[in-house]
Amino acid sequence: MKKLHILATISLAAVLLAGCTETTAPSDSTGNNPNNGVVSQSSSQSGSDSSQAEPENQNITVSNGDVLEISDNISCSAENEIRIEKGGTLDLSGEIDLSGDLYVEGKLHIAQNAKIGGTGVIHVVNSFDDIECEGTVTAKIDAPEPVEIDGVTYVGGILLVNKEYGLPREFGTDIADIRPELRSAIEQMRADTGFGMTLRPSSGYRSYATQEWWFNYYCDTDGYDNAITYSALPGHSEHQTGYAADITKTELDYADTEEGKWLAANCYKYGCIIRYPADKVDITGYIYEPWHIRYLGKSTAKLVHDSGLCLEEFLEVD
Ligand SMILES: [Zn+2]
Repeated sequence: MKKLHILATISLAAVLLAGCTETTAPSDSTGNNPNNGVVSQSSSQSGSDSSQAEPENQNITVSNGDVLEISDNISCSAENEIRIEKGGTLDLSGEIDLSGDLYVEGKLHIAQNAKIGGTGVIHVVNSFDDIECEGTVTAKIDAPEPVEIDGVTYVGGILLVNKEYGLPREFGTDIADIRPELRSAIEQMRADTGFGMTLRPSSGYRSYATQEWWFNYYCDTDGYDNAITYSALPGHSEHQTGYAADITKTELDYADTEEGKWLAANCYKYGCIIRYPADKVDITGYIYEPWHIRYLGKSTAKLVHDSGLCLEEFLEVD
């Protein structure tokens, strides 16, 4: 595998003038440096050939089979783009000030102290699994369009269930339990904190039929208009996915408990988000549920948490 570097020897002025820094696709890599203070080349070459030529705006393309390591701070102007093609990898341990577009079709690894900020947009072309984020992203993230497979909607690989997008009746019956990754996350949170973090009965995985029973029960006892604000129509409960769980106490004052406060502040580190935040009721259609967590995986949960958006906003769906 060919490895490319953006050298740490470049001056900040050169980077700012250069707009987007450049790396070449393997097919047109000649071993010469066509650039201007910002160098890309194979790892077998030394970093001694930084050019003094006039900087100009250029694009970055990370091609199939290439790994581009960026350990410095670079900027990408509004006229330029960074494109990680399928099979390519961008390893970021520096910072990107993004004014243009960053297309992620290959792999983007954002290390712990790395950052992508600016007014530009990171476009997830296929799957959020292509981003491994341990660092900070403040740039906007553009999700792919929803895709429906066998009656199930995915956005960038994330299973989406809400009032608009539902599940078939039989979905989940083969597993009939919360997903192992969510179970592990809860166990890890419990182990790390000493909090109870108990799973509410029937509030890990919940089948279509069980949801149907509960929804009808709430309608009978509380009326449809009230029931719909806190209970999902059958096929529209996130609990049917196996990726959701209600923790310890399904009452609003859970948010004021030590455990509830910790959960809100830290569950993203374990791959989960508070799915129905207090300030997003108009968008999610659900009352604040400080007890309801949704597993997304650590990287995506961190991106959602850091964005301050609810899942519908993050995925750009209704
Ligand atoms: Zn719930």
